[in-house]
Amino acid sequence: MYNDDNDRVVFFDIDGTLLDTSDFAETARKAAIGLMVDNGLPLDKDEAYGVLKTIIREKGSNYGKHFNVLTQVVLGHEDPMLVALGMITYHNVKMALLRPFPETLDTLIYLKSQGYRLAVISNGITIKQWEKLVRLNIHSFFDAVITSEEVGKEKPDKLIYDVAIRKMHGNPEKSVMIGNKFKADALGAVNAGLSAILVNSDVTEDDREYIKKHKLDITIVDDIGDVNTIL
Ligand SMILES: [Mg+2]
Repeated sequence: MYNDDNDRVVFFDIDGTLLDTSDFAETARKAAIGLMVDNGLPLDKDEAYGVLKTIIREKGSNYGKHFNVLTQVVLGHEDPMLVALGMITYHNVKMALLRPFPETLDTLIYLKSQGYRLAVISNGITIKQWEKLVRLNIHSFFDAVITSEEVGKEKPDKLIYDVAIRKMHGNPEKSVMIGNKFKADALGAVNAGLSAILVNSDVTEDDREYIKKHKLDITIVDDIGDVNTIL
């Protein structure tokens, strides 16, 4: 059943929602560290991975120069060859592991058939988020990608949801956010007047109690394949 009621928008988170990212960053980082150590970074692999994790924790995961800092910390100066090796290995392994959940494509097709317009709301860098959609070959389903880079605030900040709704000319009351993080995706969305669906989420019993107590419009399902039982 298709209709033209085009203020109904379904917004998606990417990582852990459309995309199966279960520990692929860790695998990619370990591969990068392995090659850097094999090519002269003077630490053993576990030590080097520990230093990298500390740098990521301090700088945040969207910082673009983790490997530069790693060589600075370990060698006292930046080593461009090792940085290039680390970056490229990380990137290649991550891209090789990039995959949608088995039900992602069917769900996107289903939502389009129901007349929803689709967009992404993501904490991260705009081109990198489009890159993931393009590599998965699902980019044509989405009218827009709204990111924290563009808005200047991260989910769960209300502003990023307000900007997304405005950009899509959506009606918040008829629109839905689908994500895997209770705070960033679900609470952020309901705070901006949307409803939310949590998939693959790590909601705790306390979170469930909180949803019930405050009568929040948040539905929890197992995975993205269950969205069609709600929308
Ligand atoms: Mg996520």
